[in-house]
Amino acid sequence: MAGPADTSLLLDGQDVPPVHEDNTAGRSPFLLTSDHYGRAIPRALGDLGLPASEFERHIAWDVGIAGVANALSKQLDAHLIAQRYSRLVIDCNRPPDAASSIPRISEATTIPGNEGILREAVEARRAAIFDPYHRRIGEVIEARLRDSVPTVLVSLHSFTPVYAGVARPWHIGTLYQRDTRLPPLLLEYLRAEPNLVVGDNEPYAVSDDTDYTIPVHGEKRGLMNTGIEIRQDLITDPDGQKQWADRLARVFGEIEATLRTQGLI
Ligand SMILES: [Zn+2]
Repeated sequence: MAGPADTSLLLDGQDVPPVHEDNTAGRSPFLLTSDHYGRAIPRALGDLGLPASEFERHIAWDVGIAGVANALSKQLDAHLIAQRYSRLVIDCNRPPDAASSIPRISEATTIPGNEGILREAVEARRAAIFDPYHRRIGEVIEARLRDSVPTVLVSLHSFTPVYAGVARPWHIGTLYQRDTRLPPLLLEYLRAEPNLVVGDNEPYAVSDDTDYTIPVHGEKRGLMNTGIEIRQDLITDPDGQKQWADRLARVFGEIEATLRTQGLI
């Protein structure tokens, strides 16, 4: 049976709901999403067989992005839809049929609680966490389109400064695939900021195989969209999160004015 009964297979009354929202009546054209906002684990899954230290790391969530997302939502008066469970439970920016949706290994860490996972358990994680999150993003976008509210999708992420022993030079990157309008503007404005190393589809590029939020919610609906990746060592503490939220609020304010001038929103 579809609906709430599916969720009860995994989450109980003491687990947090998967979807977090801020500023639902926000008037900004930018709709913010954060797929890797939280690192909660459903009580029924214990600790997935991992020591607590692994949940401090990037493999469990996007370190620092929650603080940036909350502040940016407030400053832009933008609706934020975020997901509270760890990407080690189910990755909300992967197609559910991708091997990395429920990772057996992340960077060099084996996830014991994901090894040999049964089909029913995979379905329960999807029904409890992935589906409600993406259903909510879809509902919000459809409602905005129905009401002719300009909607530009911005998917917020952060990346580890060193991955598999390789240091990454970028402070921030824009991520995109098919949108040729917003990402070039964002690159232009970020590159005008002093002392920033800006990645153009670095450290990742968006693809249908490795991403979900941008291809499904942005590209399939023809919305302007971009992903943003901020290097995690810059936003580890509240001061860094505030500085980056301030910067992005200013940059997106300028971009909004430009898009209006160009008649794109
Ligand atoms: Zn992420």
